[in-house]
Amino acid sequence: MPRRKIVAGNWKMNLDRRAARDLTAAVAARRAEAGAVELVLCPPAVYVETVAATLAAAPADIGLGGQNAHDKASGAFTGEVAPAMLVDLGCRYVILGHSERRTLCGETDAAVNAKTRAALAAGLTPIVCVGETLQEREAGRTAAVVTTQVQGSLAGIPATDLDKIVVAYEPVWAIGTGRVATPQQAQEVHGLIRGLLAGLASPEVAGRIRIQYGGSVKPDNAADLAAQPDIDGALVGGASLKADDFLGIARAFTG
Ligand code: PEP
Repeated sequence: MPRRKIVAGNWKMNLDRRAARDLTAAVAARRAEAGAVELVLCPPAVYVETVAATLAAAPADIGLGGQNAHDKASGAFTGEVAPAMLVDLGCRYVILGHSERRTLCGETDAAVNAKTRAALAAGLTPIVCVGETLQEREAGRTAAVVTTQVQGSLAGIPATDLDKIVVAYEPVWAIGTGRVATPQQAQEVHGLIRGLLAGLASPEVAGRIRIQYGGSVKPDNAADLAAQPDIDGALVGGASLKADDFLGIARAFTG
């Protein structure tokens, strides 16, 4: 069974409520352009309900995701969002371990692991992000860094649960910089990640797990990335804020 490609838009801390509604409506109206690709929108948490309502008014096959979630189900965690709260609003996905959260919020592999387990327990599909910094790449440490992140973030998670996750390889030096990894650079790491997943679960499970590339994906570079055997979609930041660009990227993954 070929892996269904998945293109997710990470809106980060952008847009306001009206713009969130307009962008959702624009993507929903043109959903057909993305063909069989799975599409996911990940708005800021406060706009998830707005996006859900917009999608309910213009039904289209588009998934909804959070950009982060806590590892506890409830409690005294000011400012945090529990996985079940995202589910409550209609989310099926959650981005975890994004490099901005690893860098700016100090999220470790152990924290990402706890969040991944909690998200799975709540019924969400975690999109688990990994990726090396420029300094690490230039020091020849890409494989070591990504290996540590994948093994640490997914440690001890049973194969039946690993089967439900999505991994996003996002080289930090390519995020929001306009500097995209070459298809060969990306494929090399995606192949490495699939091998690591085979070790954590089995080759069969690893063969089913979608591995997205993220980092300055645009409509004009998406097709070359999509042509790589282990690149199963994209996690898109900046370009997901424009319906034209987001759908252009999705179209590239349709083939
Ligand atoms: C991201 O932050 O997940 C991302 C890939 O951003 P951009 O597409 O803007 O590089």
